[in-house]
Amino acid sequence: MIDDNKNDIAIVVAGGSGKRMGGEIPKQFTELCGRPVLYYCLKAYEESRIDKVVLVCANEYIPLAREIMAGYGLHKTETIIPGGRERYDSVYAGLLAVKEMGGADYVQIHDAARPMVTADMIDAMADAVREDKALVAAVPAKDTVKKADVEGFVIETPRRKSLWSVQTPQVFSYTELMAAYEKMMEDTGRRDVTDDASVIEKYGGGRVRIFEASYDNLKLTTPGDMILAKAILESRGMPESSAAVGGI
Ligand code: C5P
Repeated sequence: MIDDNKNDIAIVVAGGSGKRMGGEIPKQFTELCGRPVLYYCLKAYEESRIDKVVLVCANEYIPLAREIMAGYGLHKTETIIPGGRERYDSVYAGLLAVKEMGGADYVQIHDAARPMVTADMIDAMADAVREDKALVAAVPAKDTVKKADVEGFVIETPRRKSLWSVQTPQVFSYTELMAAYEKMMEDTGRRDVTDDASVIEKYGGGRVRIFEASYDNLKLTTPGDMILAKAILESRGMPESSAAVGGI
């Protein structure tokens, strides 16, 4: 681990409604192996070298999030703030909160819907960002990917060897990501960014490096993903014991 005086803050975004999963409550607050989904990534950050965590979540879930922090002793999460309409609004709210905390050298953006991230992966990316100023966790595309037109006809088949499925964490120099986000927020054109690296690609100066991650670092999107996540967690022997928090 690179030891310097630089500080690292994580922004965990949990502000989505999780509509594709169905169900009444957003997926990040549902139960997985006896604990709320949100617990797992926050626990990984707790065990990592990251100094502090800013949690972004929908206003009505802030009390439940606080209960989870207190119940599981997640002390690195000092700040919980309300999210925005789109994912990028939630990330921008997080970046502004980091500014109020005095800024940071590096920032890791992570989706709460990815509970399988590990402290080792977080630390490895924190080391790597000290070389490359923008990094995205990604895995080689397993499927052949096709581009289609609005009528559903294939127009292109990119070479699979060059394709990566992108995940989070995505890790950046804080000042570079903030500058790129500010440019994007000033731009009145259509914003169809679904990840943070795209903001750097479009509005920032530097290059984004792929950080080869694990297929286990899946995003909970459909009910089948919960079954897979449960199996992976059980294979890791987690969680060690259960304690109910927030009715979970
Ligand atoms: O919708 P999607 O699965 O891409 O969301 C990725 C992450 O972004 C989730 O953890 C979700 O809670 C978060 N999000 C957010 N604010 C939104 C939309 C999504 O924090 N407005």
